[in-house]
Amino acid sequence: MANITTAFPYTLLELQELVVAQKKIIIKGAGTSTVLPFAQIEKYLNKNDQLFLVSIDNLSKEICLVDEQTLKISGAITWLEARQFLFEKKYDLPLWPTETSAYILSGLATSASGERCFKYGPLRNYINKIKVINENGKLCEYHANKKYAGPKLDLSSNKISYFKNSLIPQIESEIDPFIGSEGQLGILIECQIKLVPKIKTLPFFVLLKPWDENDNYKTHIKVLNWVRNQKDIITCEMMDYLSLEFVSSSRFKNKKKDLIFFECEDSSIQTLCEELLENCSELEAQDIGQIELSELNSLRLEIPRKVADFISNNKLLKKGTDVQVNQNNVEDLFLSYIRMGKMLKQSNLRFLLFGHFGDCHLHFNILPTKEQSDWCDKILENFYDQIMKVDCMPFAEHGIGILKQKYWFKYVSKNEQKEIKRLKEWYDSKYIFNPLGYMSKIEI
Ligand SMILES: Cc1cc2nc3c(=O)[nH]c(=O)nc-3n(C[C@H](O)[C@H](O)[C@H](O)COP(=O)(O)OP(=O)(O)OC[C@H]3O[C@@H](n4cnc5c(N)ncnc54)[C@H](O)[C@@H]3O)c2cc1C
Repeated sequence: MANITTAFPYTLLELQELVVAQKKIIIKGAGTSTVLPFAQIEKYLNKNDQLFLVSIDNLSKEICLVDEQTLKISGAITWLEARQFLFEKKYDLPLWPTETSAYILSGLATSASGERCFKYGPLRNYINKIKVINENGKLCEYHANKKYAGPKLDLSSNKISYFKNSLIPQIESEIDPFIGSEGQLGILIECQIKLVPKIKTLPFFVLLKPWDENDNYKTHIKVLNWVRNQKDIITCEMMDYLSLEFVSSSRFKNKKKDLIFFECEDSSIQTLCEELLENCSELEAQDIGQIELSELNSLRLEIPRKVADFISNNKLLKKGTDVQVNQNNVEDLFLSYIRMGKMLKQSNLRFLLFGHFGDCHLHFNILPTKEQSDWCDKILENFYDQIMKVDCMPFAEHGIGILKQKYWFKYVSKNEQKEIKRLKEWYDSKYIFNPLGYMSKIEI
C-alpha cells in the first residue's frame, strides 16, 4: 500500500522543510476539485509510493489591500472571504467561481473561472504577482510584468485566443507557468489580484423550452448570439429543466423549462429585456422576469454541490464535461449533448446540463449507479472524440487532474508533450510536485 502522510504545516519554514525532504507532494486546498478525487487518491498511487498530502489550512492567512485596486492574499483565503472583505469597498474581484469555499490560491493553480468571466475574461489577466515555494524549498517571487525567462518552448499550436484556458499553460510572463498548472511546478503561497470597479447589478431571467426536445436549442443559440453582443451584461448562466428538477425547492422546479439568467447594470435592465424580446420573436413577455440575487446565487451553488454530493455519497468518480466551444460551434455542442442525452435516457440514466452559457461553456453531468459507471465513461469518451473535431477547449475551468488525463494525452501532440516535460524539469527536476499530474506521466 502507498504511504500517504497528511501534513498541516503551521509556518512557511515547516512547509519548506517538507519540500526539502524530497518526498512527493500534493497540495490540498479546500478539496473541491472535480477532477482530483482527494478521497480516492490512494487508488492512483503505486504500492511503494511515498507522498505528503499537504494542507495549507494552518499556514498564517492574510488579506489586505495593497492599494485601492489591488488585493493581496496569502494562505487559505476563500473566494467568499475575499468577497466579504471587499463588501464595503469600491473595487471588487473580477471573477467569482460558483464554489465560494474554494481557496483563491487553488483558483490560480486550476485557473478557475466562474460567472463574471463573461464580462471580465480569465483570472490570469488579473494576477500581478505571486509567491511560490520552489523545488529547493526556496520562496520565489514572480511578476506579471516580467517576461518568462525559462526554456524556450515550442507551443505554437496552443489554443489561447478566445478560450478561458488553453490545453497547455500559456507562457508569456514569469507568473504564467504557475497559473493553471495544478501545483505541478511549485506551491503557491501568496498573490496579488487586480480588482475591478464595483458595479451594482440586477439579475433577470428568460425561460426556454427544453434544449433537448425538437429543435428548441435553436432559440438558446439565438439568445446566446444576442447576449454576446451586450456590453452591459456581467454574467450569463444556464440551468436546464433537469437541473431544476434536481434542486430541493424553487419556483422554477418541475416547470420543464430551461432557465437562462443574466446579471446587468441596474440602469440597463429595462432596455435589455425589451431588446431580448425583440431579437427572439419566439419569446413571450411572460417568459422574461426578474429574480432576486440571493435566490439566483443559492440556485447556482446548489446544483453543482448536489452533483458533487451525489458523486461522493455513492463513492463514484465524477462523470461530467467542462467543454467551452467557439461561438460558431455552439450548435455542435448542443447536438453532441442531445445525442448523449438520448442514449442516457434510453437507459433511464439521469443527467443535467448547466453552466456558463454566455461563454459557450456548459457542464453536462451524468448521475449513474456504480454498475453504469463504466458505460458512462464510454459514452463520455465518444462525446470527447466528437467534440474535439470542432474548435473547442475541453478543459475550460476545472483542470485536468486525474480524471481528465486520458483526454489530455489524446489531444496534446507528442511534440507539445515533450515541451511540457522540459517545462516540468526546469521547475521541478526531481518530480516532487503533484506526482499524479499529467506532467509527471509524459513518457517521451
Ligand atoms: C459546487 C462546485 C462548483 C464549482 N464551480 C466552479 C466554477 O464556477 N469555476 C471553477 O473554475 N471551478 C469550479 N469548481 C471547481 C473547483 O472549485 C475549482 O477547481 C477550485 O479552484 C478548486 O479549489 P480548492 O481550494 O478546492 O482546490 P483543491 O481541490 O484542494 O485543489 C485543486 C488543485 O490545485 C492544486 N493546489 C491547490 N492549492 C494549491 C497551492 N496553494 N499551490 C499549488 N497547487 C495548489 C491541488 O494540488 C489540486 O491539483 C466547482 C466545484 C464545485 C464542487
